[in-house]
Amino acid sequence: MSVNLQTPIDYLKGVGPNRADLLRSELGIKTYQDLLNLFPNRYIDRTRYYKINELQRNNAEVQVIGVITGFREVAQKRGKRLVADFKDDSGMMELVWFRGQKWIRESLKIGKPYVIFGRTNWFNGRYSMPHPETELLSEHEKNLRSSMQAIYPSTEKLSNKGVTNKVVSKIMQQLFLETKGRFVETLPDYILKDLKLLSKSEALFNIHFPKTPELLARAKFRLKFEELFYIQLQLILKNLIHKSKIKGLKFDKVGTYFNTFFNEHLPFDLTNAQKRVLKEIRLDLGSNAQMNRLLQGDVGSGKTIVAFMSMLMGLDNGFQCCLMAPTEILSVQHYNGLLELCKPLNISIEILTGSTKTSKRREIQENLENGNLQILVGTHALLEDKVKFKNLGLAIIDEQHRFGVAQRSKLWKKGPKKNSQSPPQSSQREEAKNVLKKYMTARPSTYKLMKELQQENKKNSTEAERILWECLRGKNLDFKFRRQHIIDEFIVDFVCLEKNLVIEVDGGYHNSIQQKEVDEIRTAILKDLGFKVIRFTNEEVIGNINSVLDKISRTLSKIPPLGENKGASIPPHILVMTATPIPRTLAMSVYGDLDISVIDELPAGRKPVKTVHRYDNNRLKVFRFIRDEIAKGRQIYVVYPLIQESEKMDYKDLMDGYESISREFPMPDYQISIVHGKMKPADKDYEMQRFAKGETQIMVATTVIEVGVNVPNASVMIIESAERFGLSQLHQLRGRVGRGAEQSYCILMTSHKLSNDSKTRLETMVRSNDGFEIAEVDLRLRGPGDIMGTQQSGVLNLRIADVVKDKDILQEARYHAKKVLNADPPLGLPEHKSILNTYREMSRYKNIWNYIS
Ligand code: ADP
Ligand code: MG
Repeated sequence: MSVNLQTPIDYLKGVGPNRADLLRSELGIKTYQDLLNLFPNRYIDRTRYYKINELQRNNAEVQVIGVITGFREVAQKRGKRLVADFKDDSGMMELVWFRGQKWIRESLKIGKPYVIFGRTNWFNGRYSMPHPETELLSEHEKNLRSSMQAIYPSTEKLSNKGVTNKVVSKIMQQLFLETKGRFVETLPDYILKDLKLLSKSEALFNIHFPKTPELLARAKFRLKFEELFYIQLQLILKNLIHKSKIKGLKFDKVGTYFNTFFNEHLPFDLTNAQKRVLKEIRLDLGSNAQMNRLLQGDVGSGKTIVAFMSMLMGLDNGFQCCLMAPTEILSVQHYNGLLELCKPLNISIEILTGSTKTSKRREIQENLENGNLQILVGTHALLEDKVKFKNLGLAIIDEQHRFGVAQRSKLWKKGPKKNSQSPPQSSQREEAKNVLKKYMTARPSTYKLMKELQQENKKNSTEAERILWECLRGKNLDFKFRRQHIIDEFIVDFVCLEKNLVIEVDGGYHNSIQQKEVDEIRTAILKDLGFKVIRFTNEEVIGNINSVLDKISRTLSKIPPLGENKGASIPPHILVMTATPIPRTLAMSVYGDLDISVIDELPAGRKPVKTVHRYDNNRLKVFRFIRDEIAKGRQIYVVYPLIQESEKMDYKDLMDGYESISREFPMPDYQISIVHGKMKPADKDYEMQRFAKGETQIMVATTVIEVGVNVPNASVMIIESAERFGLSQLHQLRGRVGRGAEQSYCILMTSHKLSNDSKTRLETMVRSNDGFEIAEVDLRLRGPGDIMGTQQSGVLNLRIADVVKDKDILQEARYHAKKVLNADPPLGLPEHKSILNTYREMSRYKNIWNYIS
């Protein structure tokens, strides 16, 4: 291998500075490697030639042989277009140019046979082809044609500036010429054999220049597998590193609270799934690492009791716990439920929300700080700075999709200060040593990797690094520095451990926006670990070393001696509960450092909710059904959509609906509650309570009751304008019924006008009660980006694989990544050399998402 794939694209023959700039700005292609990884969107058949009379009005891309018989200029609103008449022995069509007309006019010859290629339009009773690719037939015949020619992603600007697909194809060919098409293998032999994968070189060749459809399919498979394999490898490694490095609060014992509750007060037998999950949580809490666990379980699967029993483990070890829910109503409900469970155990519990009175709030804050309060439930009011725990050990977040990542990390910081927990260390340096020791004993793999990377960095230091190191190692500054030092998951350029000061010297590539973001996150993490970071550019160091040294010594003098530093806090264990199941495959690729527990079993005796779809004109029948159910003593929900953009309309619908129901079900025989977002919390609560106590039979509401509300006697859920709800919302709503022993029903009311997606959603709801199946359909309909929100979209920014469509390959890849790391954690075996090298290469060009989770 002579050509380095990190070579800038400018050096490739046929590219040149202008095209290089375009490729960089439009497609982000900076190096040979990037170009190689520009995978085609699709392939077209260039062995097939159409006659003009064979063309169809389907806007397809076609190839036609013929001659230009003449040019015309046609005036149009702005400027003019150039039209060429083009004919073959079967008919006439037009070629059209809106730009570059002079050049076209001069270069294309009348009367010579051409092969033209492009999309056809039907316009004014004729076929036309705007901006066709053109090639003299004589030239065309010299080139080999494939039945699958790659069509690359492009942008308007690229094609306007003449970087057409043909051009991209050409430079791709050039790349294969210069590299001789030989690329470093990134997967071990035995995996290639096991899975009958194409080699890297064969795969790359066939993805760009497929020889046969079979080879193309295998090339795609190989490259998708590779992409997913390395993502999984990184995630698994990251998870291992996380466990070895984020110190957790150790809950050593299962004590009186847990045992008393389990033996004397448990209201029902736990399901097997609940038991399994509790065991998983117990293991996490008892280890040295911080728990970061996602608990998935369908509505009604009994997550609350699991949450409560986890909290008992915390209390038994002298820690406080909190539970945060997305809405006031839900917090109240949790609070009331937990209060009942706490009473016989004499546990102190409070609720804090936006509407908590100031005096009460003060009392809560005081009791939190002095440790009298054991459990705090609430909304995001818990996140306020004023809310300080004496020693928060476990934070539980319900219905995670309402909270962002940022909130999760805010909870982290509410943990006990390091010093209050463990005996104060003689110096931070000891601490750093301990971290390293832990690496060595706990995870030889990562430590070894880091060590090797470190040695390599030392060997390849830049000029600026050498200059600065000469000064730092001399005694100019009174402090001892180290270079290429491992802190946590990072290797920093220089560090002074007596002052926890990190100095980074950045080369030119740090100017890219992406790298800047990475740097920022890296700085933030180091800061969390108690380090101060200052950065210099290469130019600053080389150009004016004295002012650099000046700045360093000024910074050093401002940092108080260690020990007076406020210690960073130890994060509490985190349990995130969600009733919107994320399909496992997606979860695997999105949540790097979250472990996942699933409650996949409903408590015994639950009957699945019968779901039907009814059109609006059947409303009378539906009313009759409601009347029958109420006569049996049941209660009914009627839910209306409320969407911000059409808020006014929605309220009107809600009120109209309420009126018609009131007419149909008049007082005093029937009592109706109404709850919506514009009501005061107290009024809402009052109505909810009336319904919960059975004083009203019908609850008319907007989606405010979407999550969490628990009224076991309610057995009918009617969803109005169901076509306007998303699948997961529909499923959540349906989860409000079916909580008691009675058969429950969900009726989806819609108009006759339904889009295909709406139909699919309704059919899915009618067919299935399984939250995971529903989530899969939702994922297919909306795409992963929408479901996960934007913050994680980076993860889903795959080059060739698709976490939804390729989930089988993903599973295969994860399986093999795990197998490799199980067998050979340090990746030290000769057969894993290729993996080690690739992993290192990737770490060097680490993506931002590595730091986010
Ligand atoms: P979710 O997972 O939706 O939060 P909950 O924790 O609210 O579900 O539980 C739903 C209902 O099921 C509650 O009334 C709860 O008391 C009950 N429940 C939970 N676990 C069991 C069980 N193992 N056996 C019987 N009922 C249970
Ligand atoms: Mg719940």
